[in-house]
Amino acid sequence: MVKRGLFVGRFQPPHLGHIEVIKWCFRHVDELVIVIGSAQESHTLKNPFTAGERIEMLRLALRDAGIRADKVYLIPVPDIAMNFVWPRYVELFAPRFQIVFTRNPLVARLFSEYGYKIVEPPSFSREEYSATHVRELMLAGNDRWRQLVPRSVEKYIDNIKGVERLQQIAMKD
Ligand code: NAP
Repeated sequence: MVKRGLFVGRFQPPHLGHIEVIKWCFRHVDELVIVIGSAQESHTLKNPFTAGERIEMLRLALRDAGIRADKVYLIPVPDIAMNFVWPRYVELFAPRFQIVFTRNPLVARLFSEYGYKIVEPPSFSREEYSATHVRELMLAGNDRWRQLVPRSVEKYIDNIKGVERLQQIAMKD
């Protein structure tokens, strides 16, 4: 049987820390389901990118990292108001999986209550590789964010004028 894991994130945007975690997960499983959480969100300070944009960025980033596309499922899942049933909701959208990789305590708690094995990946330079930090740098007009994301993600964000979008949202807020 194929050993399949689940990794949930918002990927706002995908950064090099996410890619390190994904590579690390592949040491433990044959295939990985990557859930793009809060799929309904976009054009806010915390969630500037659409689910579709996040799918495109992740595909580019995975290709850059040499991760085979046929080993990964990218599944967007909107949030729901009921935490307890959320793992069941994820199961509705995702192919079957046996292990949940997460550092998020709520995600770990909810999936463990349904009997899933939870594995916590290590932290990869979390102070630097954090989507919050990337967005803060973008907002401040500091180009250092470019070093924290894969090259293809940097180009993608430039193409869609992602930094401009975030700065404009901040002005409105
Ligand atoms: P995220 O910020 O994109 O992070 C995804 C995962 O990557 C986290 O476990 C995070 O660990 C890890 N990570 C990021 N950078 C890392 C690094 N440098 N080294 C190691 N690990 C790193 O996404 P998230 O907010 O955790 O995503 C959870 C999603 O689940 C959200 O969309 C949330 O809305 C959804 N959710 C929904 C419900 C519901 O609908 N009721 C309930 C629960 C969760 P850290 O902990 O270190 O950041």
